[in-house]
Amino acid sequence: MRTTEVVVIGSGFGGLAAAKQLAKSAVPTTLISATAEHLFQPLLYQVATGVLPAAEIAPPIAGILDGKDCIDVIEGRVTALDADAQVLTYRTETGDRQIGYRRLIVAAGAAQGYFGHDEWADRTFSLKTLDDAVGLRAHLLDCFAAPMADTAAHTFVVVGGGATGVEIAGQIRELRTRHFTDVPAEVYLVEGAGDLLPVYGGRLSDFTRKTLEAEGIRVLTDTFVTDIDDDAVTVRGADGAEQTIATRTVVWSAGVQATPLAAVVAEAAKCETDRAGRLLINPDLTVGARADIYAIGDMTSLNGYPGQSPVAMQQGRHAADMIRGKTVTGTAFRYLDKGSMAVVNRHNAVVDAPLGIKLTGLLGWFTWLAVHLFYLVGFRNRFAAVWSWLRAFGGRARPGFDEVTVPARDSGGAADRERTAEREEPARVA
Ligand SMILES: Cc1cc2nc3c(=O)[nH]c(=O)nc-3n(C[C@H](O)[C@H](O)[C@H](O)COP(=O)(O)OP(=O)(O)OC[C@H]3O[C@@H](n4cnc5c(N)ncnc54)[C@H](O)[C@@H]3O)c2cc1C
Repeated sequence: MRTTEVVVIGSGFGGLAAAKQLAKSAVPTTLISATAEHLFQPLLYQVATGVLPAAEIAPPIAGILDGKDCIDVIEGRVTALDADAQVLTYRTETGDRQIGYRRLIVAAGAAQGYFGHDEWADRTFSLKTLDDAVGLRAHLLDCFAAPMADTAAHTFVVVGGGATGVEIAGQIRELRTRHFTDVPAEVYLVEGAGDLLPVYGGRLSDFTRKTLEAEGIRVLTDTFVTDIDDDAVTVRGADGAEQTIATRTVVWSAGVQATPLAAVVAEAAKCETDRAGRLLINPDLTVGARADIYAIGDMTSLNGYPGQSPVAMQQGRHAADMIRGKTVTGTAFRYLDKGSMAVVNRHNAVVDAPLGIKLTGLLGWFTWLAVHLFYLVGFRNRFAAVWSWLRAFGGRARPGFDEVTVPARDSGGAADRERTAEREEPARVA
């Protein structure tokens, strides 16, 4: 069995930041990830709605870490941890393998949560993986190609009025207003709290609601989903009245729970978890009584820090700095909040920055653009994304649809899958 100095689990924001930081001191590191790519999750909704091709938000890890000779990358899913023996078991295409470590950083992220209704997972679309986004994209194209009379196909319900819900609802509506203009599509956005983007509140939430409603989105706040089946979703408003909406598309962006690996780590390191299964880590990011295991990012809970990429990245660097001796072991992690933002629709975003700075509209949108360009990984990806954004937001293209076989509505109304997309200017643009 091989043994290495540090094993990092996960190639998301936290794992990648940790690995890059360890490379600065040439610490021998093995990064094990279930996927061969680094996924830029904040832009999944743009893949789902054709703004960006899939590859632009998922560069291969091997390329990102190219030249960092101290880092080995392994594609595999970690399934077991023996904390006392300092040994991990991971599954690859060719079978189970083991690796020994001296220090471990676990950054396995989060999965979608359904508030105890796990059966809803099969009846809804989520946006956590690239496959999720690509699957939703194909489904949306099918829906827009459905016969005019098929109301359920042309009704889209997004559950969860946080950033992801707002962004995907805004973009689905834009497919209707700018691309498939002859389709009588309706978009509902359902949120349990009294406001959209409840963590922002005030002016930013008001702006978001007004902008989406002005575009024709039906915003239902103080509203909870009570049932979902294959052709309808039932919601209950603040007055207790129930409403059933006929739809074949429910996009679920309402809850999170830790990935299964969190339970494995919790048991091995004797660490408590919260209701979402996230590890209740120590202030210095260690897990339970283990000084050799760190857990970071979305699979953890510490000081109420949000499940956002800057938290995962800063934690990754903090854990790596303790391992490479640049920060004293045991130093408590402090999150530096640089603000949050969400795109409402084309040319409109809201930004909640430090020092009480709040931006809306076009100014917010350009701020969003600059920040996302900065954080997108790799020069080629940045260049390609700028080109796609110019085409999508400056013009009317949906570059992501170019890689899909677009269904066409035939005279009888049934979608056929013969026509390959070639749509710099989509066929049904007004
Ligand atoms: C749709 C969406 C939109 C978002 N928008 C924003 C935003 O606008 N701004 C923002 O700051 N944050 C946003 N976030 C949150 C942000 O993406 C997360 O906070 C961030 O990805 C957390 O990083 P992480 O490293 O903890 O986990 P992740 O980035 O999820 O990475 C987890 C990694 O672990 C791997 N993995 C999982 N299980 C195993 C296993 N058993 N073995 C090996 N590898 C495993 C996965 O393959 C993945 O590589 C968004 C998230 C989503 C889903």
